[in-house]
Amino acid sequence: MTRPWIAAAAALTLAMSGLSTPAAAQAAAPHAASAAASTPTTNATTDQAAKADAVAQASGFKIRPVDDAWRAALPRNAEAATQAYLDRLPADVQAKSAAYWEGGYWMQLWNLLLGLAIAAAFLAGRRAARLRDWAQRVGRGAVRRDMLFAGAYLGLSELISLPLSLYQGWWREQAYGMSTQTVVAWFGEWLMATSISVVLGGLALGGLYALIRRAGERWWIWGTAAGMGLMTLMVALAPVFIEPLFNTYKPVEDGPLKRAVLQMAHAVSVPADDVYVFDASRQTTRISANVSGLFGSAAVRLNDNLLRRTSEPEVRAVMGHELGHYVMNHIPKTLALMTLVLAAGFFIAQAALQSLLDRFAHRTGVRRVDDVAGLPLLLSVFSVFFALATPINNTITRTQETEADRFGLALSHEPHGFAEAQLRLVEYRKADPGAVEEFVFFHHPSTRHRILDAMRYREAMNLP
Ligand SMILES: [Zn+2]
Repeated sequence: MTRPWIAAAAALTLAMSGLSTPAAAQAAAPHAASAAASTPTTNATTDQAAKADAVAQASGFKIRPVDDAWRAALPRNAEAATQAYLDRLPADVQAKSAAYWEGGYWMQLWNLLLGLAIAAAFLAGRRAARLRDWAQRVGRGAVRRDMLFAGAYLGLSELISLPLSLYQGWWREQAYGMSTQTVVAWFGEWLMATSISVVLGGLALGGLYALIRRAGERWWIWGTAAGMGLMTLMVALAPVFIEPLFNTYKPVEDGPLKRAVLQMAHAVSVPADDVYVFDASRQTTRISANVSGLFGSAAVRLNDNLLRRTSEPEVRAVMGHELGHYVMNHIPKTLALMTLVLAAGFFIAQAALQSLLDRFAHRTGVRRVDDVAGLPLLLSVFSVFFALATPINNTITRTQETEADRFGLALSHEPHGFAEAQLRLVEYRKADPGAVEEFVFFHHPSTRHRILDAMRYREAMNLP
């Protein structure tokens, strides 16, 4: 998925679920890097980038390197060639990758449970009701009270979740050799991301309660429309106003690589006249890129890890994929599909909230759906709904990723560059899961399926 969408979805789910998404995790992008088998395409070397190289080198993630002769000697048959690619991953690399990726399943569960526990703690003993009374005194006026309450609740939840966020966003990334940040730098970004989500989440949720008061039982329809508008706004504005807070974007130096990327963009009518590089190496060793833009604009961006550590065929293959997302309108399509998911979530919340409030009113002191003190319950219903909808959401994105892969292969004509880039991603994504596991947990196709697509392209087009 392209990065602006992730940022928007993160901000929204953050606001909706009251769960924390640390800056480092938000910045973590779809593709990972390693120092193995690298053909450096160097730009200006910075201390930060050198540090990223050192971290990647030390991570122990080593793919067996090969040359053009190896590629040319691969079997023509796509399945056999795919297996030869996967056989380049040593057993210890596969084991480490599976451990990191499967640990992510548990992180999803712990985050969900912690969010629910925080909500329960606020509701029990009438703590949420007291927080609402405080917001009433300070805010004076229903909308300001609700925005204050929502911002305070989100901020306190983030604070209580800080140890888990620190473990997930920094310690775990360090342990697996992917973070390049000091804990102080990570905390600075956490503070910035939390502040943004407190302000934006407070405004959005305060607005939602104003809708609930005015629209009554039909609030879920208006809420869906407003949510759709906010998501669109976030997708359009995050690359301009939020992402530059975390990374610096600069034009890529003129040269063959930039010309090759622009040539692909222009071949599929993407209106881009420059290619930008951003300094992701200050946070992570992962490689990533995206093509963002709505309403006829396009920004082609790749990170310095991709630029510096991979060969030109890999860059072309990755950028072909990202251009595919843009050309096939994946961002607007995802917004449309997310609107349906949002409508279902709001409808279920509307249906469930009153009976849940009635049931626990003696302990929470909250009786009405339009009382903002019930927000922890609303967010809990929502986060359980989104957790249960994980396979649906993942299948939506996984399907689009497969489309972008196939588009990118046809555009870049680089099945080997694509396969090589996929092997690097094994650093953080399990290469060869079972079918059910892939259906439930994978927002991108597995390495095996992605390389198989590339090798099918190679076989059909009779490429070396
Ligand atoms: Zn993608």
